[in-house]
Amino acid sequence: MKNKKITRKISQGVYALTTNGGGCIVDAVSQISTGNNPLIAVSVMKDNYTNELLKKNNKFALSVLDRNVDPKIITTFGTKSSRDIDKYENVETEDIEEIKVIKDSIGYMVLEKIDSIDNDTHTLFIGKLVEADIYKEEKPMTYEYYQENKDDYIKVTTEKNKTAWVCTICGYVYYGEELPEDFKCPICGVDRSLFKKADH
Ligand code: FE
Repeated sequence: MKNKKITRKISQGVYALTTNGGGCIVDAVSQISTGNNPLIAVSVMKDNYTNELLKKNNKFALSVLDRNVDPKIITTFGTKSSRDIDKYENVETEDIEEIKVIKDSIGYMVLEKIDSIDNDTHTLFIGKLVEADIYKEEKPMTYEYYQENKDDYIKVTTEKNKTAWVCTICGYVYYGEELPEDFKCPICGVDRSLFKKADH
């Protein structure tokens, strides 16, 4: 391939995906049909706990994040696993169609899962829009904007006296002298080359 980075020029946004039991931050979201109940596809990494939840649940929601979103939402949903914490404990949500949507957002889409397609690393979940609303008129955050400004959103704090490696994409922290040879970020899936040693 001459330059795979052209794929980064596909415009994507930043969304909080929520479902019963957890959720995560996603960028690969696309509307794939029109009509009263359009279909929307979202890709979720297989290693992500939210993927497991989506296999069991038949409904999920996408909250559209704006540039002024509270960074707490990004770090809670983007850099931690629902295996370890209750993501809804410190985030204000509203129950819509039995799904918790994020209040600090431009608005939400509640989707009924109708299909899913597995590939090696990700599952593409396809949902039918069943409820939606706009909370405020703001510019949605793009994935490009997030990447350029992520230091403002991800304020990573690491434990002192421990060697820490921080994922430069999502802020996940790994503790240990060296990253294992075949290490992949358990949250966003990137390989060890995108981790940086934290300086205290
Ligand atoms: Fe990561």
